[in-house]
Amino acid sequence: MTLEGKTAIVTGASRGIGRAIALRFARAGASVAIIYASDADRADEVRREAAGHGVRAAAYRCDVSDFEAVKNTVNSVCEFFGTIDILVNNAGVTSDGLIVAMKEQSFDRVIGANLKGAFNMIRHCSPVFVRRRSGRILNISSVAGLSGNAGQANYAASKAGLIGLTKTVAREFASRGICCNAIAPGFIATDMTAALDSGKITQSIPLGRAGRPDEVAELALFLCGDGAAYITGEVIRIDGGLAI
Ligand code: NAP
Repeated sequence: MTLEGKTAIVTGASRGIGRAIALRFARAGASVAIIYASDADRADEVRREAAGHGVRAAAYRCDVSDFEAVKNTVNSVCEFFGTIDILVNNAGVTSDGLIVAMKEQSFDRVIGANLKGAFNMIRHCSPVFVRRRSGRILNISSVAGLSGNAGQANYAASKAGLIGLTKTVAREFASRGICCNAIAPGFIATDMTAALDSGKITQSIPLGRAGRPDEVAELALFLCGDGAAYITGEVIRIDGGLAI
């Protein structure tokens, strides 16, 4: 699988799944724009490691929930790389709690980063894709968006919203040669899940273990590559059977 000559923007690429996707894409020959929220050191590590694959790489600090900041960042990416071929909306946060105790800010923050963030990125990248009559958009949803999850009303709503967004974008842009799909990971070992009781969760996973970021990255590579040119509006679970 090659992404030779392509440019990809990956949000939330300083850590976890986004990092694995950015590095896998770089290994496949894509230049990568690494978007992060605050961890400049880790973003720069990813940038250096990506550049080690002989591609162009640059890191951009940008809160994806900020419409204007995203607009400026996408402009900077276009200026530096010349164009954009692939957008991966991976940036995400959690702020768990039962609905009866959930604060308004907690709901807004999670929807802002996870759902509005993806809209903002799509909104500002899509004119580039439309002009070129090609492009790939991949949204990182979650099994929580398919099945719901007690204690994650904000997160599950944001991830279900991403699925509606994915299908709508797929329909709106199909005639312009743009495909949009989503991945719904289950329990993947990253900073986001580090504090959870992995022993208890893995008991409910048919394959009996947590997933790895590189396994999600492999699926992302497939969906953004030439082999997936006839797939759009699809949501693929990668969860070891958790949400069967
Ligand atoms: P993670 O390790 O916590 O990393 C989150 C990444 O998102 C970091 O790079 C962070 O940047 C960035 N980020 C957070 N808020 C942002 C914002 N407002 N603007 C820009 N960047 C922002 O998370 P992960 O586990 O790799 O998860 C990646 C994606 O997969 C998320 O959308 C998550 O919901 C989804 N997912 C994860 C799992 C799982 O089990 N891990 C399961 C299903 C879905 P900084 O480093 O600068 O903070």
